[in-house]
Amino acid sequence: MTNQVQVKDVIKNFDQVRAVDGVSLEIEQGQFFSLLGPSGCGKTTLLRLIAGFEVPNSGDILIDSKSMDGVDPNLRPTNMVFQNYAIFPHLNVEQNVAYGLRKKKLTNSERASMINQALDLVGLSGLNERSSNALSGGQKQRVALARALILKPKVLLLDEPLSALDKKLREQMQSELRHLQKAVGITFILVTHDQEEALTMSDKVAVMFDGKVEQVASPRDLYERPSTQRVASFIGAMNFIECKVLEKGKNLKIRDSVLGSFDLSKEQVSGVSSNNSITIGIRPEMISILPKGSKIKNSISGKVSDISYFGETTYYKIKCDIDSKIFNISAQNSFGHIDYSIGEKIEFKIDLKSIVGFLK
Ligand code: ATP
Repeated sequence: MTNQVQVKDVIKNFDQVRAVDGVSLEIEQGQFFSLLGPSGCGKTTLLRLIAGFEVPNSGDILIDSKSMDGVDPNLRPTNMVFQNYAIFPHLNVEQNVAYGLRKKKLTNSERASMINQALDLVGLSGLNERSSNALSGGQKQRVALARALILKPKVLLLDEPLSALDKKLREQMQSELRHLQKAVGITFILVTHDQEEALTMSDKVAVMFDGKVEQVASPRDLYERPSTQRVASFIGAMNFIECKVLEKGKNLKIRDSVLGSFDLSKEQVSGVSSNNSITIGIRPEMISILPKGSKIKNSISGKVSDISYFGETTYYKIKCDIDSKIFNISAQNSFGHIDYSIGEKIEFKIDLKSIVGFLK
């Protein structure tokens, strides 16, 4: 795979604010790539820099090995889909989709065939004459997508395109967008603050904080092997515990008052440390509750201190008998599950292989 988009040491300042702070990224051709991060982390600015709507203060952006320095947005092999659809209300579906073709010399039948192909791609076949005002939010975004795709850009840039849609429709469109991207084979770069959206749709995700990229990884690696505590807590929930490092050999030997002594392999640990402290992270679903009344070697005892019911899962806050340490556990409400009440005794065990460690 070749790197189609290369972002090299890009800095972008707005007066006193450094929105993008020395970002470098490599995005492969045909990849679904997401820029994920909290509000204000600079992800939209980075997308707009790739589109050419903003100019970097320093650094360079290359598409297909060609520097985009000084290249106007309309001359770049990119197209952008915005959050608020940006379709023309006075034009019908077909006229909106055809808007990008207005400068192309095409016969009527070529034009019609391109429009119908684009509408077909986004599931709007036959709605050519429909007024834009008579479209739902999801349909408007499909029109915007068709208009962006009709020009066959090499890179499609999507700025929170689904955030105006309700949850059900958003989930449906996530899956459609993913299939559409694989069908057309175009590189997609999506900006989102929604971690679930980034995980379900992307081949690779770059997590940004304060104008910098903190980790670039596949959704699975990001979730299971976050490289920093900040990434770990931004993506899903995690229990963090401060522990002591007893020995630094091939593996790290760790000690904690509740968990006892255990080893972490090099792959489970990131960061470097000058002292002997480590923060370990445990996902709530990597802790399992034992059947009532049972106890096994290394199981941990506690009491339920809080319960949040989410339908398919229940979150329990457990206060351990030792040191009153708190653990958050998520339990699937699947067939045969056991319910607990506040104050009830509980016994649980932790999948030590799933633990990640952050040295500092
Ligand atoms: P959001 O999800 O809220 O859009 P974001 O991660 O996309 O956030 P950006 O919109 O890229 O973040 O903004 C990054 C920083 O740059 C913010 O502090 C923002 O206020 C600032 N910024 C962005 N655009 C401009 C601008 N045109 N003028 C001045 N400051 C700006």
